[in-house]
Amino acid sequence: MDLRAVLSVLETEYGPVGWWPLPSRAGTEGRNANGYRNGPSLPIGRLSKDKAARFEIAAGAVLAQNTAWRGASAAVATLARNGLLDPQAMLACPQEQLSELIAQAGTYRRKALYLKTLSANWEALDKSGTREELLALSGIGPETADCILCYAWAESNFVADAYARRIVSRMGFVPDSFGYEATRAWAEKALPKDPNYLAEAHALLVEHAKRSCTAKPRCDHCVVSSSCGLCNKMVTGPSLM
Ligand code: SF4
Repeated sequence: MDLRAVLSVLETEYGPVGWWPLPSRAGTEGRNANGYRNGPSLPIGRLSKDKAARFEIAAGAVLAQNTAWRGASAAVATLARNGLLDPQAMLACPQEQLSELIAQAGTYRRKALYLKTLSANWEALDKSGTREELLALSGIGPETADCILCYAWAESNFVADAYARRIVSRMGFVPDSFGYEATRAWAEKALPKDPNYLAEAHALLVEHAKRSCTAKPRCDHCVVSSSCGLCNKMVTGPSLM
């Protein structure tokens, strides 16, 4: 089974995952109580008139760094309630106040600085910014950049976050030594160059990492265990060859 086949099994098992969640729109038409789409993940895209959603995705990607989505989501919702999910409003907001409002996302002083930098550059970036330009900003690393590229701008970038890397290395698709960029490059070759596909693919891998391929894997519950290198190694034991 290759990665596409694995994703197909996960899709059948978990159904559409509906990323990127927009906490500001939780419970509105087409979105559930946590802001996820009722349906497959669907990037917004630069051609969409929904500029607000693109900025919310970018801000959410920054706030989600090194923390659980629950805290980041609460911070995004707080920003929305205070009218700050807008680059100009965010720039005008005093640094200290912004830090306090996003406290639930953790490392909030640093993240407030990152959000200010993102806001100051957002208008130009949102029109035609590249991955390199995103990475040049303080506080934007490869994972945050790829989240923005894939989910906000509908570019064919795979988000090779820790969840995705854990699964593809355990399954034996890539060596354990592969870091972010090597895994991303591998996945982008292995999967269709289609932002809709890549958005749902990443969301499905995160879902699988939370349900079965957890830090201590629950292989007995796993729907793709028959194709997994790690699981088969555990069943058969180490090779004597
Ligand atoms: S069999 Fe275990 S290690 Fe392999 S993908 Fe499933 S949960 Fe992860």
